[in-house]
Amino acid sequence: MADQRIISSIIAPIFNEIESIPELYRRICATMDKVGDPWELILVDDGCTDGSTGKILELAEKDQRVRPLIFARNFGHQIAVTAGWDYARGDAVIIIDADLQDPPEVIPELIAKWKEGYEVVYAVRSEREGETWFKKITASIFYRLIYRITDVKIPMDTGDFRLLDRKVVNVLKTMRERHRFPRGMAAWVGFKQVGVAYKRAVRFAGQTKYPFKKMLKLALNAITGFSYFPLQLASYFGFISAGVSIIAIPVMIILRLTGSQAFSGQASTLIAVLFLGGVQLISLGILGEYIGRLYDEAKGRPLYIIRNAPED
Ligand code: UDP
Ligand code: MG
Repeated sequence: MADQRIISSIIAPIFNEIESIPELYRRICATMDKVGDPWELILVDDGCTDGSTGKILELAEKDQRVRPLIFARNFGHQIAVTAGWDYARGDAVIIIDADLQDPPEVIPELIAKWKEGYEVVYAVRSEREGETWFKKITASIFYRLIYRITDVKIPMDTGDFRLLDRKVVNVLKTMRERHRFPRGMAAWVGFKQVGVAYKRAVRFAGQTKYPFKKMLKLALNAITGFSYFPLQLASYFGFISAGVSIIAIPVMIILRLTGSQAFSGQASTLIAVLFLGGVQLISLGILGEYIGRLYDEAKGRPLYIIRNAPED
């Protein structure tokens, strides 16, 4: 088994999904056995605290095709996906959510496109079942905002559910950025890409592991990782307010000379000061986001820490 060539590696990042794991395994086995090529399932335990680790190890014990990768703590979904890339041995690498929102039955469609010669096959969410309106609206704004302001055209309504050719994975493995946005990275590398539509299902069990705070962090990673636009905002604001004052200065002089009382109180001064103070603080905050990321890169810590790696 160990020296058998693996065609498809499936990576599932797991953060407290104890109820979904057996069903995920069952549905992946059923689907992949139909495809027929040798495959492996990499279950990345992203610091689970609900006993999922035991379930993962139990499956790996029973089935050689299941390879467990146990993190020392929670590093986040994107890092778990990255570790999966590092350990995957297949010619095609498929990333799938462990909560079964991405139906494993779509994998053969991804593989079919890959066999046609596409190197990145991403799954596009044509419908999302059973998600709150808040999640749907924030997700929709997120995809559109990212599409507009980043320099790479990241496909809209597309999550991490996708197939990557070995060539693509080898490139992605060299990109060790800390604050990562894997779907942006997969778009950035180029290659022959194609989308396949699918219906995003309801969560099999448990709650979403992406509270608003994590979504915001991901959005910031996506924007800072692929665009300088926020940094340039400060200059745009600077030009606009300098432009306004160049017009305002002669107007004020004329008003004063003609004895007008317009703009005589303190309120107008105060508003201008508060407005500019606000803009400056926001610009500083934006600078901080980029500098903090630079600082993290400079520290050069490992992206993740592994407690247990697969044996072979
Ligand atoms: N996940 C993870 N680490 C985290 C958060 C999430 O590995 O810190 C996994 C989670 O177990 C699931 C996938 O990432 O398999 C997607 O997370 P979730 O379903 O909670 O996100 P949503 O579908 O609600 O956007
Ligand atoms: Mg989910």
